[in-house]
Amino acid sequence: MRLELDSHCHTIASGHAYSTVTENAAAAAKKGLALIAITDHAPAMPGAFGYLHFVNLRVIPNFIHGVEILKGVELSVLGANGDVDLPENILKKMEVVIASLHTVCFEPSDWQSHTMAIINAMKNPYVKILGHPGDPRYPFDVDAAVNAAADYGVAIEMNDSSLTPGSARGGDRKMMRDILLACAKKNVNVTLGSDAHYMDDIGRFNHVEQLIEEVKFPKELILNYSVEKFKKTICPKI
Ligand SMILES: [Zn+2]
Ligand SMILES: [Zn+2]
Repeated sequence: MRLELDSHCHTIASGHAYSTVTENAAAAAKKGLALIAITDHAPAMPGAFGYLHFVNLRVIPNFIHGVEILKGVELSVLGANGDVDLPENILKKMEVVIASLHTVCFEPSDWQSHTMAIINAMKNPYVKILGHPGDPRYPFDVDAAVNAAADYGVAIEMNDSSLTPGSARGGDRKMMRDILLACAKKNVNVTLGSDAHYMDDIGRFNHVEQLIEEVKFPKELILNYSVEKFKKTICPKI
């Protein structure tokens, strides 16, 4: 089975990423990917573009260099109540919505608050992917969160950048392994995201592929093997 898509990448619109949509698409074409989701940071991230950036995403062609482009966002969860940094009227126009915990938008506190933040964010009907869980700064109740993902139809991301040496998050491999095992038990879908902040990293899944092999994670729960399945599950409006 071939990984057909990358569900998480950034452009210069995130403020701390360094390639354009067109450069990302060219890099994806070179790697043989059929689809990428452009998921720039929403406005609470320092340096990210404002809400109008998201309102106008429709001007981007649906295919660039033969690669299908999904226009989405990576939201920041702002607190234990699960609030995020774009309103519903904009979220409903997004094709891919990831929600993640970022230290500059939600200061790490305690296990209970992290768990509440994750579960409450997943209750948001527009949130379809929980981004990069496994950040050691945000321990949480894995079973409760994965149960909620099952209940609310949210996929859990295995983020390659988290496991890349030198990553700001310094992803906790054991925590990510535990999350994968819980997803397998509860039949929760998983996405693989490069979280590329530069075009060369588009489609880079080396670390997470190793992890899914290691735990013998069921391939049918990984959405990156089929563009059709990914779109049907994550962006049913398209
Ligand atoms: Zn993130
Ligand atoms: Zn990201």
